[in-house]
Amino acid sequence: MLSDDQQPIPKDIFVIGGGVNGCGIARDAAGRGLNVTLAEQGDLAQATSSASTKLFHGGLRYLEYFEFRLVHEALKEREVLLSAMPHISWPMRFVLPYHREMRFESETPTSKLLSFVMPWMKGRRPAWLIRLGLFMYDHLGKRKFLPGTSTLDLAQDPAGKPLNPKFHKAYEYSDGWVQDARLVVLNARDAETRGAQIMVRTKVVSAAREGDLWHIVTEGPHGRADHYAKALVNAGGPWVDQVLRDTIGIDSTEGIRLVRGSHIVTRKLYDHDKCYFFQGEDGRIIFAIPYEQDFTLIGTTDQDHKGPPSKAECTPEEQDYLCDFASKYFAKPVTRDDIVWTYSGVRPLYDDGASSATAATRDYVLSLNDAGGAPVLNVFGGKITTYRRLSEHALEKLAPFFPGLKDAWTAGVSLPGGAFKPQDTANVTADLARNYPFLGAAWTQRMIRHYGLDAREILGTAKSAADLGGDFGATLSEAEVIWLMDKEWARTAEDVIWRRTKLGLHLSAEQVSTLENFMRQRLSDAA
Ligand SMILES: Cc1cc2nc3c(=O)[nH]c(=O)nc-3n(C[C@H](O)[C@H](O)[C@H](O)COP(=O)(O)OP(=O)(O)OC[C@H]3O[C@@H](n4cnc5c(N)ncnc54)[C@H](O)[C@@H]3O)c2cc1C
Repeated sequence: MLSDDQQPIPKDIFVIGGGVNGCGIARDAAGRGLNVTLAEQGDLAQATSSASTKLFHGGLRYLEYFEFRLVHEALKEREVLLSAMPHISWPMRFVLPYHREMRFESETPTSKLLSFVMPWMKGRRPAWLIRLGLFMYDHLGKRKFLPGTSTLDLAQDPAGKPLNPKFHKAYEYSDGWVQDARLVVLNARDAETRGAQIMVRTKVVSAAREGDLWHIVTEGPHGRADHYAKALVNAGGPWVDQVLRDTIGIDSTEGIRLVRGSHIVTRKLYDHDKCYFFQGEDGRIIFAIPYEQDFTLIGTTDQDHKGPPSKAECTPEEQDYLCDFASKYFAKPVTRDDIVWTYSGVRPLYDDGASSATAATRDYVLSLNDAGGAPVLNVFGGKITTYRRLSEHALEKLAPFFPGLKDAWTAGVSLPGGAFKPQDTANVTADLARNYPFLGAAWTQRMIRHYGLDAREILGTAKSAADLGGDFGATLSEAEVIWLMDKEWARTAEDVIWRRTKLGLHLSAEQVSTLENFMRQRLSDAA
C-alpha cells in the first residue's frame, strides 16, 4: 500500500475491458464529467465485439422466446444508432424466403404454445405467424426512416434470382448494419476526447478494495502500474466471471454461458445489396449478407464453448453446417472452396439455465456489488445494438455514488466522423470524390464507410495517391496507417487489417509483412 503522499489521485471510474460495452460506458461516463480510465488487455474490440454478425437489429427470432423487453429496446435503438454514425452503419433490407418445412426450435415458448393449440403443424412455422412476428417487429419500436415489411414474389423480384426456384414467396423487412470493431474504436476516441484515459495492451491483474476506493494493478507495455478509483466496471465480456472471481476475488454465484458463433466469408454469391434471412429445418436461422464489396458473409452458429474464450475458431464442422444450410436456399450450392475467410467469437451470455445455446437469453444483466464499500458493476451479456442503452443503465446504477451526476446525453450525439445525416451520405461521398478525384469510387466509398468526415483529415492536401506516402496495397496508404496508429491505438498489422479495416481480405502475406515491419519500425522510432 502506498503512503498518502505517494498515492495517485483516484479516478472516478476504472473500466476493465475495451469491447463495445466497456468503451460505451467509458464514453458515457466521460461525457457526464467523470474521470475515467479504461484498460484493455489486448487490442480494442479484439474479442466478441469484432466477431459479431454486425447487425443493429431487434432480433426477429427473439420474439419466439418472448424476449419483448430486449426486442423493444433494440428496435427503438436501431434508428438512434444509425443516425449517430451514418458513416459506419447503414440500413439494410432482409429477405426472408418462406417455405412450409421451416421449423421452430422445439424449446421456444412459441413452439410449445403452438404444438399445444396446433399439434398437426408438427413444429413447422406457419406463414401467418411469421407475418405476425414481422408486424410486431414493424411496430414494437418507433420507425422514422426505416421502411416496414413488404411481400416479394421471388419469381419476379431480383432477390429471387440467386435462390432455388422452389422458393416462390418472401417477406422483406428492415434492420441495420454496423462495422462492429469501428464502433468500438470510435467510442474509445470520443471517450478520450471527453477526457478518458484509454490504455491498450494493458491487463488488469488484480483489483482490491482499500477503504472506499479500488486499488487496481495493471500490467502493460511499461510494466506494472497502480491505479485508484471510486468505482470499478467489469466489462470483461467472455472473461467477466473470471475477472469477477480471480482478478477481483469476489465469490459470486452469477455466471455466464459461453456460446460460440462462427461465420464464413465467401466470394460474392449474388449481385444485389439485400441480405437473406434463412430459416432451417432445425429451427435455427442464419444470415447471408453482402460484405466488403466483393464478398458474402454467412453466419452464425450457436455452440456451447469449452476452453478459453480467446481460442474460438470456426471448426470444419461449423463450416460444413453453414455451407449446407445456405445451399438449401441458393440455386448454386455453397462449398468449402467458396470460403475465403472465417471468424469466430464467443457470446458472453448471462447464464439463465436455458436448455440450449440458441435459447439462452441475449438480454443483459448489470449487477452492482457494493457490499464491501467501493462499488463494482459487472456487465453480463448484451448486444452490439444495445451497448448505448446498456451504458446509460450502467451509469444509472452508479449514479448514487456520484452525487450531482449529469443526465444521460448520448442519444443523438454523433460519433467521430459521423456528424451528418444518414440521408446525406451520398452527398458526403460525392464531395470526397470531388476533392480527391484520384481515389476512384471504391476507395472513396471505403474512406467514407470507415472514417466519414474524418477521411479529409487522413487525406489532407494530397493531390495523388503518391502524396499519401507508401502504398501497402488494396488502397491502404501510409497516411492511413499513421492515422490508425496515432489516433486509433493500432499497434500491429492485425489491428489494422482485421479490426480498424477489413483489408486482410485483400492483402497478400507479403504485403501484410511489409505493413508489420513498417509499424514495428515506427513504434521503435517513437520509443
Ligand atoms: C457470433 C456472434 C454474433 C453476434 N451478432 C450480433 C449482432 O449481429 N448484433 C448485435 O447487436 N450483437 C451481436 N452479438 C453480440 C455482441 O457481439 C456482444 O454482445 C458484444 O460484442 C459484447 O461486448 P463486450 O464489450 O461485453 O465484450 P468483448 O467485446 O468481448 O470485450 C471484453 C473485453 O474485455 C477484455 N478483458 C477481459 N479481461 C480483461 C482484463 N483482465 N484486463 C483488461 N481487459 C480485459 C477482453 O480482452 C475484451 O476485449 C454477436 C455475438 C457473437 C459472438
